[in-house]
Amino acid sequence: MNTSDFDIIKDNGRYLLIINEKYYEINEVTYTIFLKVKEGHTFDEISELLHQEHEITSTPEELQKSITDIVTPLLKKEKANNLSFMWYKVDLLFPKHYKKIADALRFLIKPYVFWPVLVVFLLFNLYKLAFLPQHDMNGEYCTNTLGVYFVTYLCLFFILIIHELGHVTATQFFKQKTYSIGFGLYLIFPVFYADVTNVWALSRYKRVVVNLGGIFFQSILGVLLFCSYTYLDLNDQVLHVLHNVFIINGITMLVNLFPFFKFDGYWLYSDLFNLPNLSKKYQMCIRFWMKKIIRPLSSFFIEDERKYMNPYSLPLIIYSVLKVGVNVMLALAIFNFLGTYINTFGSILKVGNMDACSILKLVYKFAILTLLMIYFTKLLKTLYKTVRSKIY
Ligand SMILES: [Zn+2]
Repeated sequence: MNTSDFDIIKDNGRYLLIINEKYYEINEVTYTIFLKVKEGHTFDEISELLHQEHEITSTPEELQKSITDIVTPLLKKEKANNLSFMWYKVDLLFPKHYKKIADALRFLIKPYVFWPVLVVFLLFNLYKLAFLPQHDMNGEYCTNTLGVYFVTYLCLFFILIIHELGHVTATQFFKQKTYSIGFGLYLIFPVFYADVTNVWALSRYKRVVVNLGGIFFQSILGVLLFCSYTYLDLNDQVLHVLHNVFIINGITMLVNLFPFFKFDGYWLYSDLFNLPNLSKKYQMCIRFWMKKIIRPLSSFFIEDERKYMNPYSLPLIIYSVLKVGVNVMLALAIFNFLGTYINTFGSILKVGNMDACSILKLVYKFAILTLLMIYFTKLLKTLYKTVRSKIY
């Protein structure tokens, strides 16, 4: 049982279980069991205690099973909700497909291989990405042919499968059951996901490794790509594709590490600093400090938030401040993006140069813009809900 998966709260005679930012009302006995688990008691001790205080007879095994039966479906349910923004999804690879590969690669997860390789290779990728010529990054010069773009797009699928393979290899290394690797489309962006629900039963260190598994495999892929387009004597088109794939691989790594969207970086931060339900805690933290600063208005409500998180936790404060900053910058980015988008659109119509490259650029920018819009709609919805409700 891993205690960093859930929070429990007693609130005005109600008992609440919080898993992945969702609240579930539970009864007093269930609350007591969760509380004792969180306090580090063994199921033997809890069984004894329930017998004394509540006159409930149940074996430690029964207790453990009942808790697992409550937590597992809720973790799975939340996962299903997270994926609901995709308009298409399908299970692609099952354990029988990838088990052998994951077994063959398990040596990579051994601590003395994993950490040095991760640090060196990740830094190498980021360094190379940071010093790319500017036009490579924003694609202003349309030097690629349509064929190169198409093959690059297909390679994105390959990158994402490698990423998920990293997660499942790490999960398998820690002897946890893995499920399917699925594929979905989020607007025009392909998305892959591995069902690693069972990692919640792992220790914090192991969860961190599983969370980093995807990035880890991608950083190895990045080095291989870099070496092949730098040192191999290949034809120009192939070099172009390899170079593009290296860039996309690097960018997807960065996006994944970004802790302010619910990707790997978010779970990493939440595990590293033991902050389950981080995005809920972030909202509470902001509200706590708002109320504290605007003292005459509502300082006596502060206790509401204090129940859900420790408002003086440094990792939480840092996260909250940075996230507010990120949100402001994204808002500015939308306006900026909208401006350039209209410009690009206008110039294409005016000059009448409807070549494939400009149209692709337009589609791509439109997709990014839509992503930003979706993010902001969600943000405004949360803001509205937070302002309206007193507690959550
Ligand atoms: Zn991942």
